[in-house]
Amino acid sequence: MPKIVIIGAGIVGCSLADELTERGYCDIVVIEKGRLWNPGGSTSHAPGVVFQTNGSRTMAQFARQTVEKLSCLRHGGETCFLKVGSLEIATTHERLADLHRRAGFAMSAGINACVISSEKASKLHPLLDRKKLLGALYVPDDGIAKAVEADEVMGKRSISRGAKFISDCEVIASSERRSRHRSSNYTRIIPCRYRCFLCRNLGTKDWSNGWHVKGNSAFGTPTLLHCTYA
Ligand SMILES: Cc1cc2nc3c(=O)[nH]c(=O)nc-3n(C[C@H](O)[C@H](O)[C@H](O)COP(=O)(O)OP(=O)(O)OC[C@H]3O[C@@H](n4cnc5c(N)ncnc54)[C@H](O)[C@@H]3O)c2cc1C
Repeated sequence: MPKIVIIGAGIVGCSLADELTERGYCDIVVIEKGRLWNPGGSTSHAPGVVFQTNGSRTMAQFARQTVEKLSCLRHGGETCFLKVGSLEIATTHERLADLHRRAGFAMSAGINACVISSEKASKLHPLLDRKKLLGALYVPDDGIAKAVEADEVMGKRSISRGAKFISDCEVIASSERRSRHRSSNYTRIIPCRYRCFLCRNLGTKDWSNGWHVKGNSAFGTPTLLHCTYA
């Protein structure tokens, strides 16, 4: 079984740890620069709205599986997904035709969806102006993910299967920093081979092939870990 490092304990990192440990890949270290289980990335402050319908069947199926998974997770006895349903409304005939097409996308991915009348839509959402409406795409299983809670449930479940989570620990990767750290106090370098998964969200600078981890030594981990990116 490969050793695996996951960088970032947001919803993506925790889901990955959960899915991998479920499949028996339990030699996993998740490294997170923030505090668990609300580490401060997008997951910590996103509203978590989930619309499953997508022109890409693969993306729609991913979304459907996400809803199925989060609906089964319990945090403090409560679900991690609120199926409040969604409405996409049409006020023009062209848009209405498009909603019928989108209903087809959804249904072909196994998502329960239908185009409903303006009367039904305004019953579901009384603030809608019925006179302007021509119809709406209704997806009853769309809703709101409780992402922070889901993060915690999946993270703890991974830990119970053997994964290790390290918080307050930032991964730094650049060849300049490597040389600086080698001559600094971070002297404990553990050469090892890991499969690394970057789950630290988009928008940050890309890294080279050298990986360095600095941070605390909670959980008895080294203060500097040198991973060779596989
Ligand atoms: C305001 C806002 C509203 C949103 N609304 C929605 C919505 O309604 N519906 C929806 O589906 N999506 C929404 N999103 C998008 C969604 O929140 C993100 O796509 C999702 O949370 C990304 O998850 P992630 O795990 O990839 O990233 P994050 O949650 O950002 O997790 C990445 C983690 O990596 C850690 N990290 C980063 N760099 C390092 C490092 N060098 N070393 C160690 N750890 C590191 C961070 O601390 C962080 O915890 C929204 C986003 C924002 C910002």
